[in-house]
Amino acid sequence: MPRTPGRSTRHPAALHYQVEPADLRAHLYRITLTLAQPQALQRVALPVWIPGSYLVREFSKNLQKLQARQGRRLITPQQLDKCSWQIACDPKQPLELSYEVYAYDNSVRTAWLDATRGFFNGTSLCLRVDDQADAPHELTLRPGKAPASWQVSSGLAALKTDRRGFGTYRAANYDELVDCPFELGAFWSGNFKAGGVTHRFVVAGAPPSFDGPRLLADAQRICETAIRFWHAGGHATGRSGKPPFASYVFMLNATDDGYGGLEHRNSTALICARRDLPRAEAKPGEGYTTLLGLISHEYFHSWNVKRLRPAEFARYDYRAENYTELLWFFEGFTSYYDDLLLRRAGLLDDAGYLRLLNKSINQLQQTPGRLVQSVAQASFDAWGKYYRVDENTPNATVSYYGKGALVALCLDLTLRAEGPHSLDDVMRALWLRCKAGPMAESDLLAVLQELSGRSWSRELKRWVHSTTELPLRGLLERHGVAIHEEPAQLAQRLGLRVSESGSLQIKTVLRGGAGEQAGFAAGDEWLGVEVGSGKTRSRWRLHKLDDLLLYAGGHGRVQALVARDKCLLTLPLTLPRNTTTWRLSVRAKEAAGAWLGA
Ligand SMILES: [Zn+2]
Repeated sequence: MPRTPGRSTRHPAALHYQVEPADLRAHLYRITLTLAQPQALQRVALPVWIPGSYLVREFSKNLQKLQARQGRRLITPQQLDKCSWQIACDPKQPLELSYEVYAYDNSVRTAWLDATRGFFNGTSLCLRVDDQADAPHELTLRPGKAPASWQVSSGLAALKTDRRGFGTYRAANYDELVDCPFELGAFWSGNFKAGGVTHRFVVAGAPPSFDGPRLLADAQRICETAIRFWHAGGHATGRSGKPPFASYVFMLNATDDGYGGLEHRNSTALICARRDLPRAEAKPGEGYTTLLGLISHEYFHSWNVKRLRPAEFARYDYRAENYTELLWFFEGFTSYYDDLLLRRAGLLDDAGYLRLLNKSINQLQQTPGRLVQSVAQASFDAWGKYYRVDENTPNATVSYYGKGALVALCLDLTLRAEGPHSLDDVMRALWLRCKAGPMAESDLLAVLQELSGRSWSRELKRWVHSTTELPLRGLLERHGVAIHEEPAQLAQRLGLRVSESGSLQIKTVLRGGAGEQAGFAAGDEWLGVEVGSGKTRSRWRLHKLDDLLLYAGGHGRVQALVARDKCLLTLPLTLPRNTTTWRLSVRAKEAAGAWLGA
């Protein structure tokens, strides 16, 4: 659905937010919400989560000093629960609510304000007026304490703004308001066109070496490839070759060591490490490919999850978890296409693409949780498991991103093997069938049946609703990819995940591994190792896991010296041999090219 530009100012919206950066040092925004026509008992609430990030985050913990007034009359708001309030008022008079929001979370999910930049999502700043959520909402962003050098960027339609972007914006409803984050600051920005639509790229925190034109050129290739993907045949939205939005904004925040992104209907908020930005004088490394993959991922979401979306997300409930079994499709298939479209855009070669695919396959194979939860269960459980990472996460659940992408790969390669269709055709047919809106798994099954002339319920049952291993080897080999079995890294052989900063710490003990059998526990500090016995016995201090191989030599069994809760323990550890991992390479260029270069 293309966003319509704001209408005339002669009819101001019944709901109006005034937002201003009020105190940069205290990280406070000041918000004034005016309801032209309140109810006698008016309820307002702040969301507990932001669509796209499936965790209840209780944004209201940062809201303070809520005041209500009508004219000169102050009214005490009654707090009803953790995130909602009720105000008893005169329905014939406008109601004005004012409050502050503390903004000091440097992620794409909430809000930030300091002397260098501001960023906010409406879910963190804008109280929701439940009974008027479908009415137009206006937001006036005032400069407040913003330095004169600051500018504003957002996907929201500007109604009346100044040269810097401060002024009034208008949303058709609350959903649109909170789906258009704002970036404020003295950022770098540039534009390009893709599919006839202007795309703005804003980068905060870029170092002097940043090569902006390179980033713009590569992002443009990604966007054009994605638009071509969805609109091949020219029928997908009824507007041949045009994306389903009138403008698009990338808001990238470069930090020392950040990574993440959140998709929105016509914008995305991204965070990356400064060293991953392209530099004029240096050849971009793997980190830059990761950034391009993130750009590709969030942009693909403009179609796949923001428009085509789980039936359960037809209408968001901002007060509680919104459960769906379909994240393996919306996150997983988006993850499959993010890197594949980099390959098709010419930003990766076959070998580079297979390296990334290789990584996803090995990650899945090193996750014991894949044998515990199906990827549909993992989607449903995202709120309690995947988004609440702890030392047991790899044993308890499976990534619907990683395994979902490999389900997409299996579907694509099976379709291609049977011919003449591919998963690309399935995605476009789904877009049409579901009218770029809510979708159920039955729609996917129906489209698969329609295109291929056979049922795919057996495949989905096995790949999506069971913990059966995916048929990756046969499918990859059939499409020109060779699989080499190579000795695994030591951590994988031992079934441990460790950190080596300062000392050797056990982060996770993987289910059924040698580390678990020896009695290692998460949190242990692995101090050293005792090798041999009697006169040949020797003891060694360990700082890095790989040092174990240096000292163990040919010994298949050693004693691990471990500190746990200040107690020193000796754990008998058998070093497994023959643990292997996959390395993929192109065996038959033509067969691989038919899939990768499609
Ligand atoms: Zn995603």
